[in-house]
Amino acid sequence: MVSYSKLSPAAAEKLRAIVGDGRFQFGETVREEYSHDEMPIYGRFLPEAVCLVESTEEVSAILKLCHEENVPVTVRGAGTGLVGGCVPIAGGVVLSTMRMNKILSYDMNNLVVHTQPGVRLCDLAADALAHGLMYPPDPGEKTATVGGNVSTNAGGMRAVKYGVTRDYVLAMTVVLPDGQIMKLGKTVCKTSSGYSLLHLMIGSEGTLGVITELTLKLVPKPRMDVSLILPFRDIATAIASVPAIKLANLDPQSIEFMERDIVDSSAAFTGNAVFPTVVNGREAGAYILVTLIGDSEAELTAKMDRLGEVAEKTGAYDTLVVWTDGLKKDVWAARSAFLTVIEAETKLLDEMDVVVPVDRIAEFLVYTHDEAERQGVYVRSFGHAGDGNLHIYCCSNDLEEAEFKRRVKKLMDACYAKCTEFEGQVSGEHSIGHAKKEYLRESVGETAYGLMGAIKQVFDPKGILNPGKVCHDAEGGVEHA
Ligand SMILES: Cc1cc2nc3c(=O)[nH]c(=O)nc-3n(C[C@H](O)[C@H](O)[C@H](O)COP(=O)(O)OP(=O)(O)OC[C@H]3O[C@@H](n4cnc5c(N)ncnc54)[C@H](O)[C@@H]3O)c2cc1C
Repeated sequence: MVSYSKLSPAAAEKLRAIVGDGRFQFGETVREEYSHDEMPIYGRFLPEAVCLVESTEEVSAILKLCHEENVPVTVRGAGTGLVGGCVPIAGGVVLSTMRMNKILSYDMNNLVVHTQPGVRLCDLAADALAHGLMYPPDPGEKTATVGGNVSTNAGGMRAVKYGVTRDYVLAMTVVLPDGQIMKLGKTVCKTSSGYSLLHLMIGSEGTLGVITELTLKLVPKPRMDVSLILPFRDIATAIASVPAIKLANLDPQSIEFMERDIVDSSAAFTGNAVFPTVVNGREAGAYILVTLIGDSEAELTAKMDRLGEVAEKTGAYDTLVVWTDGLKKDVWAARSAFLTVIEAETKLLDEMDVVVPVDRIAEFLVYTHDEAERQGVYVRSFGHAGDGNLHIYCCSNDLEEAEFKRRVKKLMDACYAKCTEFEGQVSGEHSIGHAKKEYLRESVGETAYGLMGAIKQVFDPKGILNPGKVCHDAEGGVEHA
């Protein structure tokens, strides 16, 4: 346990001088939005001050001051996280990167882009495409910042082919908790040069340093793509098709799954029923959504034919081709909006983002549904079938919050234990924050958890950077009603 100092009026004035009046909030001017992320059920904690930074030098000066004053600092990107990662649970200063939103330059010979951390994923993706290139990581929330994506090692829909954010970070500038500025990595394709501090920083959720510049790898954009919807009787048959799809040598860009419930909710919410519910007279209970890419129509047609054969053999009711740009956009927009739909229709919400071996997905989902029923909450689920990453939302519209939390805790305890039994991991892409710490500890064991704590201690002996997250304990600040 560590305890911290309050931000003194004198220190607050020094912070104001670093960023200027218009980019500083203190006391009553601090806006409520900085007290939570997209999962407010984990608590709302107002910071004492917010600094909207614009440069590495400002970040360095703020951290130097806060380090001297023993005041905690929590970095925030777009605040779209789902585990309370950017929430200042010990109070102190929130450092927002949203003004560090410039794409700095492209290096077309080495296929990289240099960018500030507050650039939104959607802006980088569109800009890269305009340069004839693609930034492969494609998490569902396109307004997240690339700095947030790197700090959570975000995954997304294209991970089954291209890997995750980690695989696209070549170098970064990072400010350490005491204000020192450090450069990690180079624009090279491989390295075998000592411990990779770069990869330690990726996925460290703002607990080891503040990322202020990034060099990200790009790939040539695929010439053509097509998506296909495979409706199945139920989730077990749908998931059982995934190994066969992967073995068919189609190199799919995405293999997503969704249960019927979330598809119905999405259609009701958007008024756009893009997934067919009755196929050849049979009710679909679950879907696999596949995207194939290729250089020509002939190549794509051959791949589609092969996928059709696999689908038929594995019991799909049909193989529906999403060929036109308009329909493709609608289908993927519906997929990306599933969480927004759940948020809109649900009063109380909690989530799991476990990753299990692909052949255990269906078993895990059946187990979760059974446990949820026992606890009197309902579940909506969808996720990345190609890589075993499930997004499971536990919902209620009629329980009181305290009772919901009590029941969901029992449900989560059971499900995370099952995940460990299945050799899975607590989080596939949403991270740990302060919400999933206990489950991380149980899952990795005391030796690994202790080593994580020791690493945090080396980088941040005073524990001022994003206290109470991942593997760090801290006294809580004042929860904000
Ligand atoms: C509708 C919806 C769909 C989503 N879909 C996906 C998905 O498909 N895949 C996925 O992986 N996630 C998904 N997410 C979760 C979320 O978008 C990601 O975790 C994202 O990476 C968070 O980025 P952010 O900019 O919002 O970061 P924040 O929420 O602001 O912060 C997240 C963490 O990163 C740290 N951080 C932020 N910027 C920096 C920096 N510059 N330096 C150091 N640390 C920093 C913060 O301290 C915090 O610990 C989804 C969220 C929503 C709401």
